[in-house]
Amino acid sequence: MSNATKHKKYISQFPMMGTIISLTLFEKNDSAVFDVYDYLQQMDQVFSANRPDSVLAKINQNAGKQSVKVSKKCFGLITDAVAYSKEYSDSFNVLIGPLVKTWKIGFGGHQIPSQDEIDHDLKLIHLDEVRLNQKQRTVYLTKKGMQLDLGAIAKGYFADQIIHRLANHGVTSGIINLGGNVQVLGQNPLAANSLWGIGIRDPRYEDGRSLAVVHTTAKTFVTSGIRERYFKIGNHIYHHILNPQTGYPEKSDVVQVTIITDNSELAEVLSTVCFFRGSQRGKQLVDQLPNVEAIFVNQNNELITTNGLEKQREGVYGYESYRKAN
Ligand code: ADP
Ligand code: MG
Repeated sequence: MSNATKHKKYISQFPMMGTIISLTLFEKNDSAVFDVYDYLQQMDQVFSANRPDSVLAKINQNAGKQSVKVSKKCFGLITDAVAYSKEYSDSFNVLIGPLVKTWKIGFGGHQIPSQDEIDHDLKLIHLDEVRLNQKQRTVYLTKKGMQLDLGAIAKGYFADQIIHRLANHGVTSGIINLGGNVQVLGQNPLAANSLWGIGIRDPRYEDGRSLAVVHTTAKTFVTSGIRERYFKIGNHIYHHILNPQTGYPEKSDVVQVTIITDNSELAEVLSTVCFFRGSQRGKQLVDQLPNVEAIFVNQNNELITTNGLEKQREGVYGYESYRKAN
């Protein structure tokens, strides 16, 4: 029996965080599966923007009133999110919460808010109005109505943590899929060359079919798209990635972008940033970053990829496209 046929897959799935979480292992390891499940459930309790009892909700409820003490890990993630927001202030903003709540895209919203509402919210997303006290581990939003929203970064942080947890449970190969965020651990025991083949979703279809497959060592694949949460008025699509400068869903040539790298939290941030930059400037940004690749699908349904995907570098061994631009 060859090595490839010796292995089975053990797939566990559970609905959580508004998606279906899926964990694939190649050896039976129930304690690892339960650990991941418990961890995600705990994280949902800490970070959900929609649960009134989450730590995040507590910080938001205390905006303009007082600071809130949080755990080390929670403080770490919020600190990262604020730092990325300052670095990419044209696009990524962790204070986007008020606008997300006003638009309600993906949560039953179906109309354009008034300009007054948007102007009001735009005053609540200034990054110098978050106070982080590292010594006390406290977070203070200084104006009433301010709201942290970790929706564009938290899953990346969870994926990074899960990889460590799996390794601690003796797992050497596995895939965790948090919905739009796929993180791979170790080598593929089912492939002779040990590489993984990770499918990039075709945004035109809802059945999850792929438009390309990337051959890679263990990496994280984070995809942001505008075809899942949106509403339409006439021919205009209002989707859930909001421009922190205008308060409106951003117009860009990108329909979907996938970031491929080692750190999932960074990948989450870059997927949002690249969406705003558009495929050309997004590609330029990623081409300058070491060990990061990206695949864009634009409005004309064309694939745009970073240089490393053409040249084979740093663990990513090119891709096969299932279709040409059409
Ligand atoms: P997906 O839901 O496809 O993973 P993202 O990772 O881009 O998409 O995250 C989108 C979520 O992030 C939104 O639902 C909202 O909660 C939040 N968000 C929207 N716009 C921004 C922004 N400009 N900066 C940071 N977070 C954002
Ligand atoms: Mg994301």
